[in-house]
Amino acid sequence: MAFKSIRSRLTAWYVTLLGAILVIFSIFLDYFLSKRLYESVDNSLAVSATVVATSARMRYRSPVPGLDQIFEEFLEVRNLNKFYRIYDGSGNVGSRSSNINASQFPLSEVAYADALKGNNTYETFLVDGKHPIRVITMPIIIEKKLANLVQVGTSLDAVQGTLKNLRILLFAAVPSVLVLAALFARFMARRALKPISKIIQTARNIGKGRELSQRMPVLKIQDELGQLTLTFNEMMDRLENSFVQMRQFSSDASHELRTPLTVLKGQNELVLSKPRELEEYQDVIVSNLEEINYMSKVLEDLFILSKSDENQILLNCKRMDLRDLVDEVCKHAEVLAGEKDIRIIIACLESVKINGDEVRLRQMIWNILHNGIKYTQLRGELKVSLRDEGEFALLSIQDTGIGIPKNDLPSIFNRFYRVDKARSRDEGGSGLGLSICKYIAEAHKGRIDVESKLSVGSCFKIRIPTLGGAK
Ligand code: ADP
Repeated sequence: MAFKSIRSRLTAWYVTLLGAILVIFSIFLDYFLSKRLYESVDNSLAVSATVVATSARMRYRSPVPGLDQIFEEFLEVRNLNKFYRIYDGSGNVGSRSSNINASQFPLSEVAYADALKGNNTYETFLVDGKHPIRVITMPIIIEKKLANLVQVGTSLDAVQGTLKNLRILLFAAVPSVLVLAALFARFMARRALKPISKIIQTARNIGKGRELSQRMPVLKIQDELGQLTLTFNEMMDRLENSFVQMRQFSSDASHELRTPLTVLKGQNELVLSKPRELEEYQDVIVSNLEEINYMSKVLEDLFILSKSDENQILLNCKRMDLRDLVDEVCKHAEVLAGEKDIRIIIACLESVKINGDEVRLRQMIWNILHNGIKYTQLRGELKVSLRDEGEFALLSIQDTGIGIPKNDLPSIFNRFYRVDKARSRDEGGSGLGLSICKYIAEAHKGRIDVESKLSVGSCFKIRIPTLGGAK
């Protein structure tokens, strides 16, 4: 039978196991108790037979009269639940207790043969086809000859009655215990699994209403279900965050593209509203091209970032000296820096071997240098240094620019984040450059950090694992 709910399955397992244990226990109990009871009957028969045999040997010799009298003398009771018989050496009945009917149990051939060998024999007979009797036959050997045989018997009705009562009790008790256990197990399972119903309900609500802000009530007991609740809530936190980020990202992206498109549309409509001089048309086309270039840059950056989100950017890493790359990018940047009369000072340029993707690293270094130039006033300075720090190559790019306010520092690596939107836009920035730099550094198992002071300057530090350190 397949149980749909965990609760039913737990109950079924529990009851089946308990049932099996109880059945095995009952079988063992019945076996050992009946063994014990039959043993005690046999022992009691042996004691009684020994009493009779000893008495016969000592006092009366064969045949023995008045057995009831013997028992009264020895045991001080009339032993009514036992039957006694004494045979002579040839197996003929001599004396018997008054409560015995001679035909009720015979002297069997087996018992007589055992007696001749000097052994006791235990036998069970059925009287009237339904009353079981246990009988011991004990030989009395005098001068190595079988002088007499003592037979003592007793009814097994009491023993069998006790065993029957025990079986009735077990047959009644085991199912009752199982029913109670099933009810208890079901109750406990329902109690223990209650939080799961809540989790299911919350998950359904989230699924139906897209209510990502919903959380599970945190359980006091930190058992597995408590942990599950915490994990579920943490997962929902992350999910909600990424949804918020995604929403923000797509609204930022569409806004970023809508602005240049509006400019393009407006300029073109305006220029077409009446006939104009050739130069005016040329100006508009140049301006259009700038907007188109800006849009292409944004789209290209967005493409890189969306690929990085899906881990689809495969780095083409190879062994390289970072010094050559930094030197080369600085030389290119000098041209741009020259336009603002900014000096690029190479403070230190150590040779550091790394395993890196040249194209991506060049893009990262260029972005940082370009930002340094963008956000530094005329005749400012950019100080570049590359050091081998053993485990990492440390590239520092320090500028004497406008700096970044303390509050903005934690956010500048976020997508589309710009401290001063207008300024960045004027400089052709989209707010994606540093996000890409962060991704590139982390893809190389490195990191990027920034320190900055408003109106003093900023210092970007990039750490990339060296080949020696990566060993
Ligand atoms: P953008 O294209 O706007 O430069 P980035 O992602 O490269 O985008 O930089 C994000 C923001 O961080 C910039 O808009 C700017 O406000 C700030 N920023 C980056 N580099 C510097 C710097 N060297 N000095 C001052 N501000 C900086």
